[in-house]
Amino acid sequence: MTELDKKQIGVPVPADWAYARLQERYGHFVGGDWLEPAETYTTISPATEEPLAEVGQATPEEVDRAVAAARAAFENGWSGLAASERAKYLFRIARILQERAREFAVLESLNGGKPIKESRDVDLPLAAAHFFYYAGWADKLEYAFPNRRPHPIGVAGQIIPWNFPLLMLAWKIAPALAAGNTVVLKPAETTPLTALLFADVLRQAELPAGVVNLLTGDGRTGAALVEHPGVDKIAFTGSTEVGKAIQRQLAGSGKRLTLELGGKAANIVFDDAALDQAVEGIVNGIYFNQGHVCCAGSRLFVQESIYEPLVEKLRRRLETLRVGDPLDKNTDVGAINSAQQLAKIRELVASGEEEGAQIYQPPCRLPEKGYWFVPTVFTEVAQSYRIAQEEIFGPVLSVLTFRTPEEALEKANNTPYGLSAGVWTEKGSRILWMAQRLRAGVVWANTFNRFDPTSPFGGYKESGFGREGGLHGLEPYLRFDE
Ligand code: NAP
Ligand code: MG
Repeated sequence: MTELDKKQIGVPVPADWAYARLQERYGHFVGGDWLEPAETYTTISPATEEPLAEVGQATPEEVDRAVAAARAAFENGWSGLAASERAKYLFRIARILQERAREFAVLESLNGGKPIKESRDVDLPLAAAHFFYYAGWADKLEYAFPNRRPHPIGVAGQIIPWNFPLLMLAWKIAPALAAGNTVVLKPAETTPLTALLFADVLRQAELPAGVVNLLTGDGRTGAALVEHPGVDKIAFTGSTEVGKAIQRQLAGSGKRLTLELGGKAANIVFDDAALDQAVEGIVNGIYFNQGHVCCAGSRLFVQESIYEPLVEKLRRRLETLRVGDPLDKNTDVGAINSAQQLAKIRELVASGEEEGAQIYQPPCRLPEKGYWFVPTVFTEVAQSYRIAQEEIFGPVLSVLTFRTPEEALEKANNTPYGLSAGVWTEKGSRILWMAQRLRAGVVWANTFNRFDPTSPFGGYKESGFGREGGLHGLEPYLRFDE
């Protein structure tokens, strides 16, 4: 066995598929029951390309049935229920997610390709935490918004992406229900399975029928939901391109809208930062979840005086990352979510090489089947290159340099996006100076990719508008008598 084999293969410790309790076929979850879908497609494992299950491709008629079920549930009980009763359902859902965490984590990794240690230690605990957090607010809305008399809006249409399927579902459903709304949610085409398993949690929690309806399908199902006249609010997380199309579509309709879109975050390292800690933060910032993270630290800005030692440490650290089976608990970087996303990453990486950046990829043996991309670092990147401008949404880092804090700031803000940023320095005053001037919804200091349900998250500029998490995350689901 070579050294590379030992690093790559080691002793495989895969989780058992059986935990996921896959069904061969799933319907849509409408009005508390399974609706037999008119059309279906096959969802696969991106790590092996094996088919996992048949799921529905919801038609406009099925969207209509789901919206009608949500409206009926809103009017016939849910919106009028004592807030403390609503809270009980949310607490129940949170507890059931904790109890069934292993089943969900295995299914999430199987269908989406992310490493099991991330599903287990990040996605599942955070999804449960969102339900616990918003359960706590459900009966305190009058205190949360004093003198503003909050009311639910009605039916919320929610559309989510494939990078954090269950967690994005939690970010959407928990505040909507806490505020007294009902929901029709569409997961992404490539990752429907944990949303479908969540239907089982809703039944176990005895949530009244129709309060949450789940429709699977591709962008056409999403578009039908956005258009439906019975929907009062759209909450969308996904690409800036689709977000813009939705905004155009809804202009003048009176429907509420929040958009959580793409990003191209700056992760800025000053020469007084603790370097080893910064390297861990850089690795976490861009290789966590294969870089399929809207707030990923994809542009690394390094102060010139520490450029060489830092890049050297980073390369060495990259060599230790284990790429492979998402269900192996020792895997650091899993599968790329889809063939389509892999093609996008490859295209942008090729453009980086053509434009003149220097590419580094550690030696790595990739599985033969499935969608994979080696963790990549580009140095000698100019700000004008596509890899410094466009969101890659993959495990690809672009390294740039700066001399002064002013220069770092100017370069960091030179992007159409504004979702997140990171600052690494020993100086508290510099952290505050930077945080006030970075045009990003979230600024992390000496850490990266930290999430907490109490903390609002959202963007500036082309990263969207509206906040999720914290008190701010309730507001888009309420109307007020002012
Ligand atoms: P996407 O293509 O915009 O898809 C997002 C969701 O919208 C999916 O459920 C998608 O269905 C659906 N959709 C597609 N076309 C639609 C249409 N015309 N009308 C209504 N819905 C439509 O984005 P993605 O490629 O799945 O996700 C990656 C992007 O999401 C990245 O740009 C990333 O930065 C962004 N993102 C942002 C955040 C945030 O919080 N700001 C979080 C995660 C991801 P299909 O699955 O069938 O395409
Ligand atoms: Mg898409």
